[in-house]
Amino acid sequence: MNDCIYLDNNATTKIDDEVLAAMLPYLTIYYGNPSSMHTFGGQVGRVVREARKQVASLLGAQDSEIVFTSCGTEGDNAAIFAALKAQPDRRQIVTTQVEHPAVLNVCRYLEKQGFTVTYLSVNSQGQIDLDEVEAAMTGNTALVSIMYANNETGVIFPVEQIGQMAKEYGAIFHVDAVQAIGKVPLDMSNSTIDLLTLSGHKIHAPKGIGALYVRKGTRFRPLLIGGHQERGRRGGTENVAGIVALGKAAELAGQHLAEIDRERKLRDRLEQGILNTIANTAVNGHPTQRLPNTTNIGFKYIEGEAILLSLDQYGICASSGSACTSGSLEPSHVLRAMGLPYSILHGSIRFSLSRFTTEAEIDRVLEILPGIIDRLRELSPFNSDDADWLKEQEQAVLAK
Ligand code: PLP
Repeated sequence: MNDCIYLDNNATTKIDDEVLAAMLPYLTIYYGNPSSMHTFGGQVGRVVREARKQVASLLGAQDSEIVFTSCGTEGDNAAIFAALKAQPDRRQIVTTQVEHPAVLNVCRYLEKQGFTVTYLSVNSQGQIDLDEVEAAMTGNTALVSIMYANNETGVIFPVEQIGQMAKEYGAIFHVDAVQAIGKVPLDMSNSTIDLLTLSGHKIHAPKGIGALYVRKGTRFRPLLIGGHQERGRRGGTENVAGIVALGKAAELAGQHLAEIDRERKLRDRLEQGILNTIANTAVNGHPTQRLPNTTNIGFKYIEGEAILLSLDQYGICASSGSACTSGSLEPSHVLRAMGLPYSILHGSIRFSLSRFTTEAEIDRVLEILPGIIDRLRELSPFNSDDADWLKEQEQAVLAK
């Protein structure tokens, strides 16, 4: 099972051997608490400081602006709640319809608490309309929370332009950069972003570690109230091994950025190979304003889950836009927001690469996939857009 072809790197990534080697001593030998007064704990405090420097360096931030968290979800929650507490007389949040549930479900919760949330729409290529962003903002906007890049399609939003608008309205600007980190260069020293979330397991560190960038001067209240750790911005004894891992992973991600074009070329090879050899396929999302490692492809007239199961039999890991929700196959909220037709909504697959992806793996997928699609289309009860059933299903989705 270990020699699978892993093209699901937006879900999680393999731990880099160098990252594992860096973190292991902090699980075995150096298990001290960084807050302890003794030398044994103190030496651990030193590596936490070093890791903070490594993460800050990847972001063009100051060390003191990095707060270690447990994951991207915690970072998003902490950012949103902190921004609202910082501006208690403002009651509106501006976000998008295509955020990760770590933002969307917090916003839905906050609506029930009396906040107003504006969910910006996207066009058929997954892009935001800047006029709509501007129109959404008012003097009551406490927070603008926008993802840097979408996890399903890889589409990149114009965050700096949005941040400029947020500043004009006096709103705090949070960016969920969980998918962008290590794939596009980020420079907080020249940015409108106040708060930025990242997560270790998307950049070859283990699960259970993340970080929140908090711009110096941004009013911040902790989500986890406890000890004085992280300068009082996040209580809880530090996950030292995870922090060391994140630091190393950030350092390696920074180095890898210089070679990101290799990943882009492999992604393009996969994408073009599929579009050229399999009929009725299309890329979901903007062709260029996209992460270099992601392609989301619609295979008309078949269920994405059936494609995934068939790929799995060949040891190929990818992901579908749909998630199984309470027994019914709900189409992806991202692809739905893009207004894609039913035949594509249900037959979309995300392939996401990493620096470990090889040309041989891409070629193997291109060798296997056409046969899988042919077979599934032969079995499919619908094979044209005119099928009555297809139309009915589409109406049902649109009516929701
Ligand atoms: N935000 C985005 C855009 C993501 O893709 C993810 C994870 O897939 C998260 C937040 C949540 O991160 P974590 O899994 O570390 O909680």
